[in-house]
Amino acid sequence: MSTLATPATAQTTAPTSAPTFEVHASANPVPDDERAAALAAPRFGTVFTDHMTRISWSQADGWHGHRVEPYGPLQLDPATAVLHYAQEIFEGLKAYRHADGSVWSFRPEANAARFRQSAHRLALPELPQDDFLGAIRALVGVDRAWVPTGEETSLYLRPFMYASEAFLGVRASLEAEFLVIASPVGPYFAGGVKPVSIWVSRDYHRAGAGGTGAAKCGGNYAASLLPQQEAYAKGFEQVCFLDDRTGTQLEELGGMNVVVVYADGSVATPPVSGTILEGVTRSSILRLLTDAGHEVAERPILLDELRAGLADGSVSEVFACGTAAVMTPIGRLASDDFDLVVGDGQAGPVTTRIRAELTDIQYGRAADRHGWLTRLL
Ligand SMILES: *Cc1c(COP(=O)(O)O)cnc(C)c1O
Repeated sequence: MSTLATPATAQTTAPTSAPTFEVHASANPVPDDERAAALAAPRFGTVFTDHMTRISWSQADGWHGHRVEPYGPLQLDPATAVLHYAQEIFEGLKAYRHADGSVWSFRPEANAARFRQSAHRLALPELPQDDFLGAIRALVGVDRAWVPTGEETSLYLRPFMYASEAFLGVRASLEAEFLVIASPVGPYFAGGVKPVSIWVSRDYHRAGAGGTGAAKCGGNYAASLLPQQEAYAKGFEQVCFLDDRTGTQLEELGGMNVVVVYADGSVATPPVSGTILEGVTRSSILRLLTDAGHEVAERPILLDELRAGLADGSVSEVFACGTAAVMTPIGRLASDDFDLVVGDGQAGPVTTRIRAELTDIQYGRAADRHGWLTRLL
């Protein structure tokens, strides 16, 4: 069952059972002028706010020690389980500043639910939604000055959890740490949305049946780095992976879902059947496409079918989607035996329109008719 069904009502108030986070304020926060410079020209994931939120877990004590502390290095015993067996998961979402100064997040309860599912798959403890949302609220509250105001800027939030027990035995860790760190980010496409070129990998797969493809875990990313590097060396920006069983069906990119738009206005995307990460952006876009009257199908898409459609013009647009870039048009698709331009190689009208609709909702410029926004500040 999909975890990303649209909630019936907007969640714009704080949860009633909000946990309390003890705040240990940084003794040396980044000076105002340095922060202003960082906010004026943010580069993805390079600069972090003054604090981080943290919750510890042990099998004996459960979740405890909810706190906000100064951002800084973690001290790890060399035997810490995550360093050996990669028992780790993460999330990615954003805090958006609206024109009136208020700060909002987009469907954070969907990220909280996915985080619990990822935890389950990686045999990590499941963090309650109130703790997940409370940790984000606490951090954004303390570091509110770090939420940028520029167009299409935001504060990127990175919740993550790792196995922290110092033990080399191969079993689920009896201790875990949950943290949230935050980094101001600028418009992903400075100077206009730019299509990317995609290499379709025939040599590697991102995920296999029964594996961890549906969980947001660091290990999936580790496995995608070599294919990414090889594609880059060939002159391509990203990799699209095929299913591991037949090698004939599209799955997704290393960190983004993929959607195909047909010239007749219909839209298709591969179904989430265990090897694909169910993106919050993907599900939101499918909703907006349906609202706009597009026929939307979640069905297997054969690479051969896509190639034929690109060649005869029945496929008009292909885009990738995820929180960081929202929607990225795919301008070129190639592999060992083909090299095709998508449409005219530029961002197509459906991609452009839906991207604007989604970002308008996120930044409070359009009505939040699906109750997707949660106020943080
Ligand atoms: C995070 C992620 C996505 C996109 O998910 P969003 O919730 O839209 O950000 C897609 N694919 C993979 C493999 C991911 O890790």
